[in-house]
Amino acid sequence: MDFKKVMVAGSGVLGSQIAFQTAFFGYDVNVYDINNDAINAAKERFAKLKEVYAEYFNDADKAKAAYGRLSFSTDIAEAVADADLMIEAVPEVVNIKQDFYQKLAPVAPDKTIFASNSSTMLPSQFAEFTGRPEKFLALHFANSIWKNNTAEVMGHAGTDAQYTEQVIEFARSIGMIPFLVKKEQPGYILNSLLVPFLNAGLSLWAKDIADPHTIDKNWMISTGAPHGPFAILDIVGMETPYNLNVAKSDLDPTYKAIAEKLKTEMIDQGKMGQSTGEGFYKYPNPAFLEPDFLKQN
Ligand code: NAD
Repeated sequence: MDFKKVMVAGSGVLGSQIAFQTAFFGYDVNVYDINNDAINAAKERFAKLKEVYAEYFNDADKAKAAYGRLSFSTDIAEAVADADLMIEAVPEVVNIKQDFYQKLAPVAPDKTIFASNSSTMLPSQFAEFTGRPEKFLALHFANSIWKNNTAEVMGHAGTDAQYTEQVIEFARSIGMIPFLVKKEQPGYILNSLLVPFLNAGLSLWAKDIADPHTIDKNWMISTGAPHGPFAILDIVGMETPYNLNVAKSDLDPTYKAIAEKLKTEMIDQGKMGQSTGEGFYKYPNPAFLEPDFLKQN
């Protein structure tokens, strides 16, 4: 692997983090977004990330240098020119992604490997639109990439293993711990475990089998885990589980009951989780961190 230039497409929550992480580890990064408003919003994110990285890595000079390695473009051909790798973090909407790959494919150099950061979609859904299915795969990061440094790498049936290897090597070179997902799997490794786990907790709550703190406490005492499902839901926020359960509402009444309860008891009350100071727990001193939490019930 001898990558030097990386294009990051979409400079929202994850795209800006991926771009900054990549620049922090020495690559030249071209950040592509649809218009100047989006680029300006990204610049504000990068200014904040510069502070976050300076503090987290205790290296203000390196964070400043990373900022200097970012360039910005609203012209897709300019953004991908000479890129060794393109990492896509555009919205999680099939048509937007498909359209993006169809525009990118004809203007990208042959050498450019395309990687998607999609959380819920599969590379095989877009391979035909990339014009280079053998050089296309998923490279999935977690939010707060600098500390939650996993990179799930997952090809589709037509991905050439040599490019998968190169992307794994790249991920390692930017401080990630890469995890190869050997076959296409919706949700990769992490969300294949986490989503059913969180929904199992929500289902016990929606069916009024036990309350959230009791469920967490049981899980924590029984397994030694530092968090139960509801403490994790407070980190994730209520939006994603709500949308997921709404989408499945027709399949099973439990999904519907979960969605309704999340809406009326959490979202409508402004209890979105850690981000709003209250979810299933109150922050900054949630009950599950209190010394007595695990000593009695
Ligand atoms: P976001 O809404 O914060 O950012 C999306 C960005 O894409 C915006 O800057 C928007 O202007 C831009 N955009 C819109 N249309 C575009 C186009 N046609 N071409 C280029 N840019 C375009 O979204 P996000 O949360 O950063 O998610 C982006 C991707 O990352 C999704 O696929 C999502 O599944 C994945 N992801 C998100 C998270 C997360 O925690 N937010 C975690 C892992 C993966």
